[in-house]
Amino acid sequence: MELLTNKVCMITGASRGIGRETAYRFAEEGAVLYVTDYQDGSLDSLVDILSEKYHTDITPLYFDVTDERAAKAAIMEVKKRHGRLDVLVNNAGIMRDNVIGMIGQKLVKDVFDINVFAVINMIQLANRLMVRQKSGCIINISSIVGVEGAAGQLVYSASKGAVAALTKAAAKELAPHGIRVNAVAPGLINTGLLQAIGDEKIAENLKNVKMGRLGEPLDVANVLVFLASDLAGYVTGEIIGVDGGAQV
Ligand code: NAP
Repeated sequence: MELLTNKVCMITGASRGIGRETAYRFAEEGAVLYVTDYQDGSLDSLVDILSEKYHTDITPLYFDVTDERAAKAAIMEVKKRHGRLDVLVNNAGIMRDNVIGMIGQKLVKDVFDINVFAVINMIQLANRLMVRQKSGCIINISSIVGVEGAAGQLVYSASKGAVAALTKAAAKELAPHGIRVNAVAPGLINTGLLQAIGDEKIAENLKNVKMGRLGEPLDVANVLVFLASDLAGYVTGEIIGVDGGAQV
C-alpha cells in the first residue's frame, strides 16, 4: 500500500541532502510533488529520475525561500494547478557557526532569514490553502541542537529552537482546522551541510551517538513519510528526534 497516493506535497530545498531523499521516498509512496530550490536547473536530475522511475507528477519550482513574493507565487502555482496542498515540508535550511564574541549580524540575519522567517512565511502561505480545504500537514525540520543547544552553535541552535517552538504554537492554533504541524529533530545526518564541518569534527561528534553511526538522509525521510501520511493522523505538535540516541 502506498502511503501518500495523490497527496499534493511541497518539499523546499530538495536539490540535495534530506530534501532530495524525501522527494524520492514521497515519490515511491505515490505523492504528487512540488520540489523547490533556488538554483535554476538544480532539480533537473531529480525530476527526470522520479518522473521516469515512478511516473511521478513532479514540478520543480525555483525560488529563494526568503523571497516572500516568490514564495507566494509558488504557492499560487500549486493552487492553480491542483487546487490544494496536502503536505508542506519546510526543509530548506543553512548552518553557519561562529564562537560567542565572533558572531556577526550578517550571520545571525542569514541563518534566521532562512531557518526561521522563511518557515513562518511558508506556513502562513500554506495555511491559506489548508484552512480552506479543512485539512493539511506541515512538517518542519528542527535539530537536536534546537532542543539541547550545542557549544559553538549559538545562532543555529537558536534558529532550530525557534522552529521547535513555532511548530508547537502552529499545531495548537491550526488543529481545529484539521491541520497537523510537526517537526523532526535530526542529529548528525550524512549530507553536505554536515560534511562542511570537516571529518575531524564529525568523528568527535560521532562519539556522542549511541548507535555509533551517522544518520543517512533516508533515516529522516522515512519519518517524514510517516508524519505526512494518514498513519500519523492523530499526531500533532510533536518534535520527533531522528538521532541514533545522540547526546550533545
Ligand atoms: P543540505 O544538504 O545543505 O541541503 C539544504 C537544501 O536547502 C539544499 O537543497 C539548498 O539548496 C536548500 N536551500 C538552502 N538555502 C535555501 C534558500 N534560501 N532557498 C531555497 N533553498 C535553499 O542540508 P541538509 O543536511 O539536507 O539539511 C536539510 C534540513 O535539515 C535543514 O533545515 C537543516 O538545518 C536540517 N538539519 C540537518 C542536519 C544534518 O546533520 N544534516 C541535522 C539537523 C537538521 P542548494 O543546494 O542550492 O544550496
